[in-house]
Amino acid sequence: MKEDFSIEKLVRRNVAEMKPYSSARDEYKKDGRKMTFLDANENPFGDGLNRYPDPQQTSLKEQLAALKGVETSQILLGNGSDEVLDLIFRAFCEPRQDNVITLPPTYGMYKVLANLNEVEDREVVLKPDFQPDVAKILKQVDEKTKIIFLCSPNNPTGNTFSEAAVLELLKNFDGLAVIDEAYIDFSEKPGWLSKLQDFPNLIITQTLSKAYGLAGIRLGICYASVEIIQILNKIKPPYNVNELTQQRAMERLEQPKVVQEEIEKILEQRKYLETELSKMAFLKEIFPSEANFLLAKVDNASRRYEQLLREGIVVRNRTNQVLCENTIRFTVGTQEENRELLEALKRIENQK
Ligand SMILES: *Cc1c(COP(=O)(O)O)cnc(C)c1O
Repeated sequence: MKEDFSIEKLVRRNVAEMKPYSSARDEYKKDGRKMTFLDANENPFGDGLNRYPDPQQTSLKEQLAALKGVETSQILLGNGSDEVLDLIFRAFCEPRQDNVITLPPTYGMYKVLANLNEVEDREVVLKPDFQPDVAKILKQVDEKTKIIFLCSPNNPTGNTFSEAAVLELLKNFDGLAVIDEAYIDFSEKPGWLSKLQDFPNLIITQTLSKAYGLAGIRLGICYASVEIIQILNKIKPPYNVNELTQQRAMERLEQPKVVQEEIEKILEQRKYLETELSKMAFLKEIFPSEANFLLAKVDNASRRYEQLLREGIVVRNRTNQVLCENTIRFTVGTQEENRELLEALKRIENQK
């Protein structure tokens, strides 16, 4: 980000000029009095779910803000991070004109969303050590480059990106840097939330789908400057986070100890799995992981994948991803699941 960074220059014109939909519950501001709600055409009978959810998810954001040390005005919530990422595309990327940069091998949704939004995806492959090639990335940047997607810890490689590389990108890129921290709770590194104040071009996404164990409720979180959050807020569907999701998310966030205990068990199991996998004859390499999965190179990933399926175990074959030839991604399960996996691997070890 250079001296003259301004978010107005990045936002799409139609987004800058549009008036957002104003929902019934947006117009009414809570003041603590008991009110009679005859504004939203809801059915008056019911147990709470007959009412539309809070479109701004105020209580949930207050909880997250306290937990993460940011302001509620720096948070946007979505129906999974996938919705958050899509909103970022739609707010900032002009279809058929703008481009984004992604760093394969990485999370597949960035490319899907680029295609869906008709935005060119300039791929700059990671270096062999799975770190961003900063010089090559900056060479790909032109005046139409709106976003660079940095997934750290990266899926499927499992590593975080070096602080120096990310800093260099943040400092030298005039567009937005999105750091996807879906797996940050499994890493010993602190993540980038504390740097939000320093970089007006920084967007951080997190999720309750991984460490928080709530993939089923779909809650994605976006942290950014107040200006960026205001823009995303303007274009989000009014009731994009449903009432049940808000309730379950708040219950879970009230249990940080339980979440931490689960994370520790998963990390312990990751270690166990790594030790045991490395003993398998067909296993060539296990890449260091700061997430809840292990990427491993085997003799023949497609064959081992099929053999495991026959054993009733589903893993992820990543062999078709650049730099990932003959790799399989193993999600760390419970101790019992991991034992099942290892027993199945032993059974297929000598199969052709
Ligand atoms: C799993 C994952 C997500 C989570 O997406 P949700 O829509 O929040 O479930 C985001 N980014 C990456 C890199 C992931 O692997």
